[in-house]
Amino acid sequence: MLRVFALLLLSLSFSLAQLRVVTTYPWIGDIFREVGRDRITLHVIAKPTEDFHFVVPRPTHIAKLRSADLLVINGASLEIGFLPPLLQQSNNPKVQPGRQGFLDLSQFVELIEKPERVSREMGDVHPEGNPHYFLDPHNIPSLASAIVERMCLLDSPNCTYYRSNFEDFQRRWKARLKEWDAGFLQLKGLKVVQYHKTYDYLFRRYGIETVGTLEPLPGIPPTPKHLERLKKEAENKGVKFIVLEAFRKGDRNSQNFANQLGIKVVVLPQDVGIENARDIFSLFDEILRRLSV
Ligand SMILES: [Zn+2]
Repeated sequence: MLRVFALLLLSLSFSLAQLRVVTTYPWIGDIFREVGRDRITLHVIAKPTEDFHFVVPRPTHIAKLRSADLLVINGASLEIGFLPPLLQQSNNPKVQPGRQGFLDLSQFVELIEKPERVSREMGDVHPEGNPHYFLDPHNIPSLASAIVERMCLLDSPNCTYYRSNFEDFQRRWKARLKEWDAGFLQLKGLKVVQYHKTYDYLFRRYGIETVGTLEPLPGIPPTPKHLERLKKEAENKGVKFIVLEAFRKGDRNSQNFANQLGIKVVVLPQDVGIENARDIFSLFDEILRRLSV
């Protein structure tokens, strides 16, 4: 009898031991919400109001990393400016690179714009290629699948649950993908100027042309000379919008540039939790809606 009771207690404590997950960005957290639901605890480091290249490292993140079972990152050097010191100070061997509790999602997609050589004059260029791959909705299912497989490895008792949530997510995602494909293909041939190469994966997928970026080089603020040259090109090519990530909303250079050309600045959510992007589904709904005006 006592043994049965002890076993019961043991299984109870197992089922109560939720997988403790830390992610760097809100969109990764939202995939966890879909597949892990109430069986995980989740901490997201970056706020959607922050520039994803320059996230402020805070002591709370160190504390969460210290007790984490799994850390999932965007990778491709996007977190290079804030994650290494947090990881080091967390002193948690489980979530260090190379361990089972560390997952770099950039390993599961084909990166574009890989520079042939990297030098300081190239600005803040990401050496592995453009890291903003998740803004192509076609990349999401394989990323979610990689997440679920890692969850299964670390938390096998809940694996069936995670997999069935993934199946459900994937079904809904594929249905929405058809709608997004149809909607974005209406925009084929649209010409835009971006501030940064944030939406390149999305725009390449659907034939939207980025005529140039306000930044002369990634991470380098616009210069008058560069803007003057870009203005001529944008005029010649019939650019319709300046596309701006929500965290840069109100940027003066973008507004001035748009005013000079007589075109509009379109602010797009760049992650979940900002500008009507309540979750990863409405993120793409909202991007499509705003570009379709
Ligand atoms: Zn970038």
